[in-house]
Amino acid sequence: MQFKSRLIHAGTSRDPFTGASSVPVYLASTFDQRAPRVTDAYDYTRSGNPTRESLEQAAAELEKGAVGLAFASGMAAISSVLLLFQPGDHLLVGTDVYGGTFRILTTLFRRWGLHADFVDSTRQEAVNAALRPDTRGIIVESPSNPLLKITDLAFIAQLAAQRGILSIVDNTFCTPFLQRPLELGFDLALHSATKFLNGHSDVLAGLAVAREKSLGEKLRRIQNAFGAVLGVQDSWLLLRGMKTLAVRMEAGQAGAMFLAPKLAALPGVRRVHYPGLPEHPGKAVHDLQASGPGAVLSFELESPEAVGRFLRRVTLPLVSVSLGGVESILSHPATMSHAAMPPEERAARGISDALVRLSVGLEHPEDLWADIRQALAA
Ligand SMILES: *Cc1c(COP(=O)(O)O)cnc(C)c1O
Repeated sequence: MQFKSRLIHAGTSRDPFTGASSVPVYLASTFDQRAPRVTDAYDYTRSGNPTRESLEQAAAELEKGAVGLAFASGMAAISSVLLLFQPGDHLLVGTDVYGGTFRILTTLFRRWGLHADFVDSTRQEAVNAALRPDTRGIIVESPSNPLLKITDLAFIAQLAAQRGILSIVDNTFCTPFLQRPLELGFDLALHSATKFLNGHSDVLAGLAVAREKSLGEKLRRIQNAFGAVLGVQDSWLLLRGMKTLAVRMEAGQAGAMFLAPKLAALPGVRRVHYPGLPEHPGKAVHDLQASGPGAVLSFELESPEAVGRFLRRVTLPLVSVSLGGVESILSHPATMSHAAMPPEERAARGISDALVRLSVGLEHPEDLWADIRQALAA
């Protein structure tokens, strides 16, 4: 079945008791046990709830994995996944990962005893050279945030499989509509479902999907024990948001493809980072592993002052953290998503203070272009 059809019917698309067109919101923390130790499918909502389970099943179906799990946020999903490792383990992590992922690896999990080295995952020889005998996992994002760099996902998955270590990808930017890393051999796909999957900037949620059942069950035990589960109402909202993922992604992507070359041709714009542009160095690899360039791009202006003027003058997009909403969102990585990263680390990664990230929403692209142009002309 085509992805668009699976999207509509994934999970429990009708309620088995009443035929209702959506799964009910089971607002219950606990479930009656017929006798001590005799339970039906559920006993306590931290361990399992029918509404959350419908979402988890949908996530697994869409990513083509064996087990899907829903968490209170993207960071809750990432943190819970990191608990699969042991103190003393070594991880290789792409340099250009989400600022929050960088923060927990360099603070919380470092204190816990996990050692992370950051490596430019777009360069295969750099990844090979950074592997250590005690490396137990590789974490990457492609396209990366905020520079939209492309990592060859099949290479990373194969390398990890050869070594018998875990391969983990944050698939937030593409979503399974555009890219399914588990089909390329990744062990785990993670999402900040707060972004495109929910799509309406009104829910905070995270998902993890495991390719194999045994790994998924291991993570399910962590989910239950650690307890960073997604609430029942938010699970329902996310299920609803996900049904329109394909049409939203297509529209946002069409807007990004319209805007990227126009931005690149403007005198005040130094560089545009977007895997849909022919000059993007990762385009060929991205085209092989994803079915479209997505709806996020970033661009550099002449100076941080120019960024300040632009963000004050622009009227249509939200100027805020986050991405993947129906409304366009402009953000300034240096002071927002990557503020958790020290300035010297940002500079080393090429994240300039003059960089702006744009998540293209569902406004008419001509209106966005007119607004951006007037704000940059100032
Ligand atoms: C937002 C984001 C996260 C964190 O997710 P939250 O839902 O905000 O906790 C992780 N990875 C990427 C790529 C993100 O964009």
